[in-house]
Amino acid sequence: MKKRDCVFCYFTEKDVVIHEYKLCYSIISKSPINKYHVLIIPKEH
Ligand SMILES: [Zn+2]
Repeated sequence: MKKRDCVFCYFTEKDVVIHEYKLCYSIISKSPINKYHVLIIPKEH
């Protein structure tokens, strides 16, 4: 289910996607809090 105004439901910046899994995907943060900041986003949330 996609929710309006959710940046993760409408995430289209493929250049930062590290890997896509069945239930989630991982991206490199665009505003990292440290050198290794990666986000894991569940497809359902
Ligand atoms: Zn969402």
